[in-house]
This record gives sequence, structure tokens and C-alpha cells, in this order.
Amino acid sequence: MPLDLPSAEGVDPCRIADGVRVAVVVEAPQHSGLWGPLDYRHTEDLPAGALVRVPLGRRTVTGVVWDASEQPPMAGYELPALKPVAEVLPDLPALPSAWRQLVGFAANYYQRSLGEMALMVLPPELRQLDATQWARRRKRADKALGLAVPGPAGEIVLPALTPQQEAALDALATHQAGQPYLLWGNTGSGKTEVYLRQAQRTLNAGRQVLMMVPEINLTPQLEARVAERFAGRRIVSLHSGLTPAQRLRNWLLAHLGEADIVLGTRLSVFTPMPRLGLLVVDEEHDPSYKQQDGARYSARDLAVYRARLEGVPVILGSATPSLETWHNALPTGEGGTGRYVRLSMPARVGDGRMPKVRVLDLSRSPKPTMGQEPPPLALELLDAITQRVERGEQSLILLNRRGYAPVLHCSECGWKSGCPHCSAWRVFHKQDRTLRCHHCGFSERVPRACPDCGNTDIQPVGRGTERLEEQLAEALPGARIGRIDADVTRHKGALEAQLASVHAGDVDVLVGTQMVAKGHDFRRMTLVAAVNPDAALFASDFRAAERQFALLLQAAGRAGRDADVAGHSEMWLQTWHPLHPLYEALRRYDYPAFAARQLEERQIAGMPPFASLAMLRAEAKTQEAAQAFLQQAADMAQPWADALGCVTLYPAVPTPVQRVANIERAQMMIESSSRPALQRFLTDTREMWLDLAQKNRRSGLVRWAVDVDPLAI
Ligand code: ADP
Ligand code: ZN
Ligand code: ZN
Repeated sequence: MPLDLPSAEGVDPCRIADGVRVAVVVEAPQHSGLWGPLDYRHTEDLPAGALVRVPLGRRTVTGVVWDASEQPPMAGYELPALKPVAEVLPDLPALPSAWRQLVGFAANYYQRSLGEMALMVLPPELRQLDATQWARRRKRADKALGLAVPGPAGEIVLPALTPQQEAALDALATHQAGQPYLLWGNTGSGKTEVYLRQAQRTLNAGRQVLMMVPEINLTPQLEARVAERFAGRRIVSLHSGLTPAQRLRNWLLAHLGEADIVLGTRLSVFTPMPRLGLLVVDEEHDPSYKQQDGARYSARDLAVYRARLEGVPVILGSATPSLETWHNALPTGEGGTGRYVRLSMPARVGDGRMPKVRVLDLSRSPKPTMGQEPPPLALELLDAITQRVERGEQSLILLNRRGYAPVLHCSECGWKSGCPHCSAWRVFHKQDRTLRCHHCGFSERVPRACPDCGNTDIQPVGRGTERLEEQLAEALPGARIGRIDADVTRHKGALEAQLASVHAGDVDVLVGTQMVAKGHDFRRMTLVAAVNPDAALFASDFRAAERQFALLLQAAGRAGRDADVAGHSEMWLQTWHPLHPLYEALRRYDYPAFAARQLEERQIAGMPPFASLAMLRAEAKTQEAAQAFLQQAADMAQPWADALGCVTLYPAVPTPVQRVANIERAQMMIESSSRPALQRFLTDTREMWLDLAQKNRRSGLVRWAVDVDPLAI
């Protein structure tokens, strides 16, 4: 053996006089083509998961140390040539291996770079601090830790469990590691109580709990309930509504294992928790769990993955599960996969009943006279509301369209209030007299006269929540009308204030968008009406019916929560299609029948959950450029699809709203009967598409991305 070569045995080949190679993931733009970690040099080995500051180009950026032993060195690797790690963030335990695996899986699955994924899910502030600033921040956090010792637990009397709750909790007690559960029960069936009991068991076992809700608006309610139940425990929330400092602090408490319960929105699925013992995903069907830009991950799906990874139970709760989840929770004998254990809680707690559904056939309402708009609500419905007002009960009128009117129209020349930058109408907002585009935000004062012909008689067409509120005030003199939608609640605290006045009984009739259908517990609500639910029946999106059913059922759940009034609670649907199967199923509150029918249709059409989809999206200066890129991408990738044999590329088409803020959008659907095959295809083609995109920049391509498991098509 030649003496000048070191023996491989017992010697770390990475360790030479100058130090060791450290693999670090940093945030790099998607188009840089950097998918994995970069190599740096450090004087000593750093544990995977440590946070470091490293030079990148001319900047110093925060990065996460990854397992060097699992990463092949970069091409042309020579240790002395590597740039050194600038500094290590002190007093920060390494991000655990489960966290790194989750991030690695998410990056791979959703076709993003590891660096983007890893850095995106850290608190924004953490990414910006250097070691000195961090040390200072850390000290402050320690002080806060000392101060924030929660008070002692008070005496709480727990309600006796219903037999259904007992059964669900018994099943949870015998869980196999990583087993997902679907907790299927109407609003008011006591799902939250089940979460809380299982959380109690988890805490008793010395473990942490992660509870997710779809929207920030819903966190304060859950927080209050959890805080009441678990006085003496440290509870933190994580969502985008926190200040950067709060977010960093709460994240740190979770990561250090100091917080017992983390409540959060989708981003909290990535919270490192060393003692994690339970994951809860409330309203698991909610579209908000899917990120809609950048790395388009599904927090629900990642929660299921994470539960398996960490060997803990995950509870997905819903009255109207997503069809994917339902399919997984159906036993194999009933056409499902049987992967999830289904826990059913059909009845509401106490004597609360779901409201009686009344389908109102609009074709039988008297026709309005020529040139007049139909009344805002059918007369029978108005009567029913009037009765409620007289009895001191509340009504909720649901209309999923904000603003006064969706468009203004000139009857002389046919001008309509289009957005100059989008292929969409600008919505008339009467309150501030603006025409506003809900896609790009472009806003102008309403013109006094038609901009094309000067006619001063320009009319609103159609009806939004603002107008409905106005019309109801006219139709129901003396009734107090309130409204909740994204316009009313734009200012901080406005939503809370408006909700408080509803709870206090200061509102008789509440007009609202889907915002109010979720989660709120209105005790005096005995009527819910959907004014225009038909639109979703004929939408091109294959999930539209599923979403509409969920929304209507959830809205119905706002009524009749109190046993005193449940007996005469009603859910009204104003429709031109009274016999539509969706309404038929809703009338009987028969989610399984609805789901069975939908699943059958999906199976025939080869749609999820019977197929996996990805959407290649492109944005460009012209529609031609957007489509050309997609077409070239398809042509290039076709041989890979052919080789796999079960991947289909569909033609490139404009998106439903094709132009937004002067950028044209197009998309191409990729479908496969096999999820692994689709993943393989996307991984095999991504470098190719990246190169192609670079070349297409000159011809006007602005952005492109792959959306895996897209929510809308
Ligand atoms: P969900 O989460 O399914 O909407 P909740 O857990 O919020 O249902 O329960 C609805 C209402 O019933 C709540 O006010 C809750 O406090 C109450 N509740 C839940 N379980 C019980 C029980 N076993 N006995 C009495 N009241 C209960
Ligand atoms: Zn005109
Ligand atoms: Zn616009």
C-alpha cells in the first residue's frame, strides 16, 4: 500500500486540515435551478438542522445545515476552494430530523427547491437576523419565557361524553402509530370536544399537540376554548396575522418544547415540535389548507405525512370531508381504500337539530314586470325572515359576491365596467363610489357618465352583498341589517366588532359571504338562506359541486345550534333547479349519498381521487407566449410520458380569468392514474423545463410553476 495515501478506515475523508465540508440549503430563486444544498467549509462538523449564515453571491444569507453524508459533493469539489460558513446562530437547537424529512418531502413532492421550502417555513424574522442580533433576540425570548409562566389550572367541569364521542375516543385510544382518522360529524356534533379530550391524553403523556384551523379568523375562538380547557398549559398560536416578533417567539417556544399546544393555520404544519404527540386538522376539506402561490403545498396532506413520519395520530375533522379523504376513509368493501379510520358522529349534541331545508323554486315566483329587477328575495323567504325578526331571532343571508353590483352597464351604447388590465369586470362599490377590480385591485371613482357615449344613466347590473343589504333594509323596515364580507372587515378589529354585535343581538339579519358560514357559533340564528347557490352547479371546475355542498351544509350548521330554537330552524335555498341532486342530498343531509355520486362521476371521468393531477401554469406578456411555452414543454416531455405509459398531457388552454394585471395566463393539465408515475415524470422533466423557461424569457414568459394536486382546474 503506497504510504502517501491515507487509509480509508477510521478516517473521515471529508476532514482535512482546513475543516469539513458542510452542506447548507439556502433560499435561491426557482429559476436558478438550484434544487439541493450548497457546499461550504467549516472548522468543525455542524449537526444537520443547525442554522448558519453563509455567503451567497455578494450577500450573507441564512441557511440550514443538511446531512452532508447523504449529499454527494458538488461537481469539481475541492474543500479549500469552498467558501467558509460565516457564523452559526448560537443557542438554537438543531431542527430535528423529522422536520428535515418533512421539508425534504414537501420540496420534492411539490416540485420546489429544498432551499425555498426550508427557508419559507421558518419565521421570516429568523431568516433575517445575524448571529449577534439573534443572540440578543434569544435572550429576550428567555426573559419572556420566565414571565409567561401560565397560571395554575382551575377547576373545570367537563361535560359527560355522548356515546358517539365515547366511541370515537375509544378508537383513538387504540391507535396504531401514524394512523390517520377521519372524524366525521356535523357542526355541533361535538368534534371539538373530541379534539380536546384527545389533546388532554396527549398532554398527560408529556407530548405536544398541533391543532390546525383553516383561517386566522377562526383561531381566536379555538384559542379561547383551548385556553379555558388547558389553563396552566402553555398555548401558542402561529399564523400570518402575528407580528414577526410574536411569530418568532411562538415558533421558538414550540421548537424548544416549551409550548404544549400550537394552534395555527396551514403554515403551522411545519412547526418543529420535539415532543409532538397529536395532529388535528379541523375542517380538513377547507381549500385554505392549500397554499395558492409559490410552493403550493397542502397542509392537510402534509399533516397526514407528518403523522406517519412521527408515528403519531392525526385527526381530520369535517362534516363534509374532501372526497379524497372520504375515499380513504371508506372501507375497501365500499369502494374506498380503507387507509383512514372513520369515526362517525351523526347527531348534534343535546337536542340541537340541523335546520329543515326548504328548496324554493324560483321558476314559480311571480315574474317581475318588464324592465324591473326581481325582488332581492322571494316573497315567501322575506315573510319567513320577517317572522324571525318579530320573534327576536336572527337570520343569515348568504351571497358569495361582495360589492354593490358585479358590473355597471350603459343601456345606450352597451359599455360595461371592464378592467383595462384584466379580462374581468370591475365591481361597483357604492359605499366609496368606486369601480374596483377584484383581480388586480385597480380602482377608480365611478364615472358620472358613460365613458364611451356620455350617457348619464349608467346602471348597476346584478347584486352583491352591499346592494342586498340596502335592498333588505328597504324590504324589512325596522329590522337591523348587518353585513360581513371582506370589504367590511378590511380594517383590523372590524370583523371582531361586527361579530360581537351579532352575538349581542344587535343585528336581526346578517348578510354575508362565505366568510360567515365558517365556524361561528350564533345562538339565536334560526334561518339561513342561500340567495344564489346555482352558480356552482354549472361551473367548469370538477370540485365546484363538492365545495358548494360543503359551504351550504356548513352554512346550515349556523342555524339551530340552540335546542330552544332548533325546532323551527330552516335553511332556504333559492334555486332555478330545485330537483338538482346536490339539493336533494342536502335536503336529507345525506353527505354519503352526495359523495357516492360524486365519486362515481370522478371515477368515470378519471379525476381525483382516482387519478393524480398536476397543472403546469405559465404567465406571459401575451397569451401566445404563455401557450407556446406550455406547448414546447409538452412536446419535450412527451417521450417521458410515453415511456411511463400512464401519464397524459392535455392541450394548453387559457386560465378561466385569462388576463390579470396585464399578464396573460395559460395552463396545461397533466394527469396520471398513478401518483408515483406523475411524481417521477415531474422530477424527470423539471431540469428540462427550467432550461426551456430560461430560453422563453426573451419571448415574454414571465413566470411558470407546477401546481401538484391543484385545487381548481
Ligand atoms: P363541533 O366541533 O362538532 O361543531 P363542539 O365540540 O363545538 O362541536 O360542540 C358543540 C357544542 O356542544 C359546544 O357548545 C360544546 O361545548 C357542546 N358539547 C360538546 N360535547 C358535549 C357533551 N358531551 N355534552 C354537552 N355538551 C357538549
Ligand atoms: Zn354608453
Ligand atoms: Zn384588474
